[in-house]
This record gives sequence, C-alpha cells and structure tokens, in this order.
Amino acid sequence: MASEAKKKKIAVIGGLTGCIEGATRVSANWMRWQVVRGKRLLLWETNPDILSRWAQSVIETEILLREVTQQESFVKECIQIVNANSDPVAKAIVPDMVEELITLDHEYDRLERTYETIVAGCPAGPIKSGYLWIRQQSYWYLRSDWLRQDCINRGGCCGRSCGCCETPPDPRRRKGWGHCTAQCACCKSVRGFRATERGKRLLQPKYDLTVFPWSHYSRQMFRAYVWSLD
Ligand SMILES: [Zn+2]
Ligand SMILES: [Zn+2]
Ligand SMILES: [Zn+2]
Repeated sequence: MASEAKKKKIAVIGGLTGCIEGATRVSANWMRWQVVRGKRLLLWETNPDILSRWAQSVIETEILLREVTQQESFVKECIQIVNANSDPVAKAIVPDMVEELITLDHEYDRLERTYETIVAGCPAGPIKSGYLWIRQQSYWYLRSDWLRQDCINRGGCCGRSCGCCETPPDPRRRKGWGHCTAQCACCKSVRGFRATERGKRLLQPKYDLTVFPWSHYSRQMFRAYVWSLD
C-alpha cells in the first residue's frame, strides 16, 4: 500500500524531470520557479488521489471553457456571413443563432463559476500557488511545445499558418483562451463537417488522471496543464 502511494506521488511530481530536460527551452526565471516548486512539492505531504482528482476536474473545465468560447466565435462568424447575404431565407435563421449565443453566454458564466470553485478547492501548497501563477501569465499555453504539438496532432490550428491559437477570440473570455477544440471555427472550416462522436474522440484523446498508472497521454496532460512543462 505504501509503495502504491509512493508510485502515485512520483507520478504527480513527474514534472521535476521535465524541468531539467526543458532547461534549454525555457527562460531562466520560468525554470527557476519550476525547480523551486518541484523541490517544495517533494517536501510537501498531500494525498496524490486528491491532487489527481483536482487536476482532472480543472483540466476538463478549462477545455469546456475553450469549447464554449470557440463555439461562440463560430456562431458569431455564421451570423456575420448570413447578414452579409441578401437571401431572406438564410436571414431567417439569425434569431436561432442569437438564441444560441445567449445560451452559450450563460454556459460560459456557469463554467467560469465551476472553474473558480474547483481552483479554490485545491489544497493549499506549491501546486496551487504554482498553478495560479502560471495562469496569470499571458498566453501560458503557448509556452509549452507539447501543447502546441498536441494541437497539431488533434488537427488544430497550430498545424497551419492561420495563427488562431496566437490570436484569442474575445478579451472577455480569457479563461476560454487556448488551443483548438472540436468547436474551433477555423478547424471546422478546414474539416468541412461537424465533428461526429468518433471524430470528437480523435480531436481530444482520452485522459484520466484519477486512474493509476497514468497513460503516457494523461501524464503529458498533467505536466503541461499543471506544471506548464513539456
Ligand atoms: Zn485557424
Ligand atoms: Zn482551430
Ligand atoms: Zn493550437
């Protein structure tokens, strides 16, 4: 039992190795901060099960916030296109799209409150302080080569020259900024179809941090989202 707990703890502190591996790729201050966090975590006693459940919830909610934000941009683009069209039949769907925007606005507010509750629920310690510090950095998600490569692997805009991930859609939706989800308008226009359930699975591979041992993908998700490391 003790060795099982140790294995879980080692998985959770796995980012420390990444600090050293990534030393040549990140700024000195960023690196120093990550190493300090890693050392503090080694000395810090927290149940890895609680941390892994917290990390799973926070990552899931961040992805949902991005989905809603990107869906909003998609609907706004559709309204612009339809309004520029003189066809009255096409214009008839505008009220439905406006209705969808109102629903998405409420959904974003709901998710934002959920997100804040989850973050507040993280046990006080180096993970929480580090996570909050990283999220205060503008474009934190662009610092990670792994997150960029993951976006490319999922068919996202980092694999093209459009630059969508570098130009977030709405300054009032900061928590919805980040790499592409199944709802990205630009990706949809490239794919040319709405994602099926199977397609959505390809667009977001499965990860479950509550199940040990972690899969390679789960481990990388944890390192990228919580440690901001590759
Ligand atoms: Zn794009
Ligand atoms: Zn995209
Ligand atoms: Zn991207």
